[in-house]
Amino acid sequence: MHCPFCRHSDSRVVDSRAADDGSSIRRRRQCPDCGRRFTTVETAALMVIKRSGVTEPFSREKVISGVRKACQGRPVTEDALAQLGQRVEECVRASGSAELSTHDVGLAILGPLKDLDVVAFLRFASVYQAYDGLSDFEAAIAELRGAEQPVPAPGDDGATVAVPAAAP
Ligand SMILES: [Zn+2]
Repeated sequence: MHCPFCRHSDSRVVDSRAADDGSSIRRRRQCPDCGRRFTTVETAALMVIKRSGVTEPFSREKVISGVRKACQGRPVTEDALAQLGQRVEECVRASGSAELSTHDVGLAILGPLKDLDVVAFLRFASVYQAYDGLSDFEAAIAELRGAEQPVPAPGDDGATVAVPAAAP
């Protein structure tokens, strides 16, 4: 690793520590020439094979920007997006495979996105799973409703409503 300040061709590691729960290592380095210090971050390469066959490194930022588009106009914060990106990365790393398809990444996004915002989930899923028409949306919504407890009444906007007990 060359020095970013003076371009010296070598550097010395002065400290190493695990970061992000062990998924990366930060190294503090010192240039033997100019003496300045800098940090490098090392992560295991996780490659994504695109539909075109091209392979590129997994990018949490790309996941987040794709999801951000689906979340336009929704009450989703940048913090929540960052957390989702982290969950997706943890999920794909936990798969133990060094190579993933874009399909695997899409699947890893759907779960956390469903928890985050159902409208954004439907937008994302409709593109990602190539919904063909209303029946695909209906099936997805039926599945979402099935997962909700309690099942909302017709016309309910999804909010939980207290049902008054029947009079004796
Ligand atoms: Zn230097």
